[in-house]
Amino acid sequence: MSPDKASDARNIDLGPGKEFDIVRILLSEWGKSAQRIGDDAAIVEVPRGEKLVITTDTSVDGVHFRHEWLNHFEIGYRATAAALSDLAAMAARPLGIVIALTLPEADRVEARALATGIREGASAVLCPIVGGDLSSGKILSLTITALGSVAQPLSRAGAKAGQRVYVTGSLGGPAAAVRAWQAGKEPTERDRARFANPVPRIEPAVGLAQRGATSAIDISDGLIADLGHVAAASNVCIEIDVDRIPHVDGVSSLQAANSGEEYEIVATAPAIDTEAFAAEFGLALTEIGRVVAGSSGVELMKDGKKISAPPGFDHFRDK
Ligand SMILES: [Mg+2]
Repeated sequence: MSPDKASDARNIDLGPGKEFDIVRILLSEWGKSAQRIGDDAAIVEVPRGEKLVITTDTSVDGVHFRHEWLNHFEIGYRATAAALSDLAAMAARPLGIVIALTLPEADRVEARALATGIREGASAVLCPIVGGDLSSGKILSLTITALGSVAQPLSRAGAKAGQRVYVTGSLGGPAAAVRAWQAGKEPTERDRARFANPVPRIEPAVGLAQRGATSAIDISDGLIADLGHVAAASNVCIEIDVDRIPHVDGVSSLQAANSGEEYEIVATAPAIDTEAFAAEFGLALTEIGRVVAGSSGVELMKDGKKISAPPGFDHFRDK
């Protein structure tokens, strides 16, 4: 949407009622980020020649985050960024998000902080909030549906033998933050920020597609687990050089390889000038392996030899 159109967008007046009072709080925090909320359904325009890309992502207290770990701003921000990251994985740009929010009585005093986090997560990638639904309930939960568009989406099924494997950013921070919390400690600011305030890699993913990438996935389950999805969908073998995996200080390559909730992008592509990419997007891009023909799966390599892979991240695993 053009800036002109965005400034024309009006939210429709809401009626009286307790539920609408909370909606009014949300809307006042969202300000111009909220567009045309209040009608029965949202209307978005898809640029001519592009495909509509839709993804939905649920964040539930006790499963995807913990109250003791994150404040409400961070809960809202992180849920929004996680949903938008799935658009990045397809190299799509966002058109809008709709939010289904279950807000227990105890969390109502934090509605404003939650709304601010959602707004910041969306505005980090210039995404408007176009609709939502509010319910009471026992557990805080945000289901965010993100709408985007792209002419030629990237898919998990597009990896081809002969390509190289690239990953954005530096891995391991979120896992380090979770390990600290589990040990009853406060994570470092850096690790906490990597967990609580990830930035969806929308423009870098578009840049990868423009440079010939044919497959991509965002790292929500862990690098190895997510590359396993690409290998299976593409029916190829993906070899990863463990020592080339970019990781934050204080985290081993294998810990980084198994760190979930990263929201970085891993893609397969022909050779890319990683320095020029980093200069354009202000984000590291690292070549970490290659796509080869053979039985589908991921092989971890160290000093030219195969080593066994760690298990992937599991949302339902005891933490
Ligand atoms: Mg994903």
